[in-house]
Amino acid sequence: MASGVGSANPVNPQEIVIPAELRPLDGRFGSGPSKVRPEAVAALARSASGYLGTSHRQAGVRSMVGRLRTGLRQLFSLPEGYEVVLGNGGTTVFWDAMVFCLIERRSLHYVFGEFSAKCAEAARRAPHLDDPQIVESQPGTRPGFVAPGDCDLCALTHNETSTGVMMPVERPDTGALVAVDATSGAGGLPVDPRAFDVYYFALQKSFASDGGLWVALCSPDALERIQAISRSGRYIPASLDLGVALEQSRQDQTLNTPALATLFLAVEQIDWINDQGGLEWAAARCDRSAEIVYSWAEGSPRAAPFVTEPAHRSRVVATIDLEPRIEAAAVTRTLRVNGILDTEPYRKLGRNQLRIGMYPAIEPDDVAALTRCIDYVIDTLESARGGD
Ligand SMILES: *Cc1c(COP(=O)(O)O)cnc(C)c1O
Repeated sequence: MASGVGSANPVNPQEIVIPAELRPLDGRFGSGPSKVRPEAVAALARSASGYLGTSHRQAGVRSMVGRLRTGLRQLFSLPEGYEVVLGNGGTTVFWDAMVFCLIERRSLHYVFGEFSAKCAEAARRAPHLDDPQIVESQPGTRPGFVAPGDCDLCALTHNETSTGVMMPVERPDTGALVAVDATSGAGGLPVDPRAFDVYYFALQKSFASDGGLWVALCSPDALERIQAISRSGRYIPASLDLGVALEQSRQDQTLNTPALATLFLAVEQIDWINDQGGLEWAAARCDRSAEIVYSWAEGSPRAAPFVTEPAHRSRVVATIDLEPRIEAAAVTRTLRVNGILDTEPYRKLGRNQLRIGMYPAIEPDDVAALTRCIDYVIDTLESARGGD
């Protein structure tokens, strides 16, 4: 490509046009909210007149809550006695519910990025709890497991979305409950339900829906804890009361009005994954996308996976560092004007990085196309600087 080589005028990244044949069919690679499948949106549009704008106390919406609960039970092969509980407010609100209704006295937190840190902070600020035990590691790594000592709940994060590091879900050999923030991991990473007591998430990541709701898969031990704490006399705001959420969920309802479109789109995605082959199929699809991104980055002289330990690299959110002389922000800006969205890194991480969502809704072929587009943009930016 001769244009711009040796020229004193650098290319304006906003003016680079990525050839149509290189581009992905769908340009959404955000880590959350993330790609919603067009088929699900079309199904919502078809059902809208009998569903959107209808009472959440009537059969239409309640059957949607019922399908969500049954679909998740099937997807995660939940053992007898586990229940699917849901409520309003997304994961951030669930952290507060956890502080009120799941932690008896003291929690243990594995902190390795922004989301796991926020969860620990919610527990630290609660005046009715002892200060949590925190086991922390540098961004891009994950902490090792420790004995929970006197802690009655271990807070894990299946996938740290801010750094692209995943951790295994493992049960300690004490009575401590295992509560896993699986907001970005659930539905894209394999998990054994016997290893957790609470596996909670929102629906705007692997479930390819919109924000606003939290879902918690709860073991019999977790349900017992919720009921014991609600009988203990501790003050619990109604909107954060998991005992209330449990009663409502058993009737396929929520305490207050849920986001109806979010529910519908999530059910579409859960049914789609179950029809394609379930969690194993979804995890294999994410593995394929991850393989494409990491092998591309490892083979590129200008990019490298941020997470150095290959086994810790997330299969649902890839973080890729670029060489310092290539400005990642110029790359993401160029992608954006070409319709390829949300490849920016987590803002507080402050790295020269791209972050790529690889959830089940995202086509592995589109991920491959994205790597070709990134190469094209970098080549064009580089050739413009050719002389220096
Ligand atoms: C996105 C995300 C959250 C925040 O979810 P909200 O529904 O916006 O509160 C929390 N934890 C993890 C791991 C996430 O990826």
